[in-house]
Amino acid sequence: MENKNDGNNNFDCKKYLCKCKAKCCGPVPFAKKLYEDNKLKIVRPFIEIIEVEGFDLPNDNPTTMIIAMTVDGYCIFLGKDKRCNIYDERPWICRNYGLIPKLRCPYQKEDGSPRAREQRCQMIKKKRGKG
Ligand code: SF4
Ligand code: SF4
Repeated sequence: MENKNDGNNNFDCKKYLCKCKAKCCGPVPFAKKLYEDNKLKIVRPFIEIIEVEGFDLPNDNPTTMIIAMTVDGYCIFLGKDKRCNIYDERPWICRNYGLIPKLRCPYQKEDGSPRAREQRCQMIKKKRGKG
């Protein structure tokens, strides 16, 4: 996985991949157009495609969104080497993961410094609904 976001050189996912296993790359909702334009870049088989009416961030434009479910829960565009196969076109949520309060990474802070183990455990528990 390259950095999840642009323009912040200290936020470096490569340093944490052996621990985080790119678990943040789950079934992200894609605008249908982005999904259709990049179908040939799908690298993980999906078991179900869910189509919902939603909003494309960050502009909140109403649009049809696609959620693709895989057996292992990873994103359909995540390669075996944990690299994003649509890196240059990845959605806003992926570009901003780790950089804004609503999308905090449990492993590194916004400036790329590591989170304390206790804080990381709390965040992971909360995400799993156990915190
Ligand atoms: S944003 Fe966090 S969880 Fe996602 S790949 Fe980078 S270090 Fe790992
Ligand atoms: S589009 Fe790329 S960065 Fe976003 S979840 Fe999928 S693999 Fe990860």
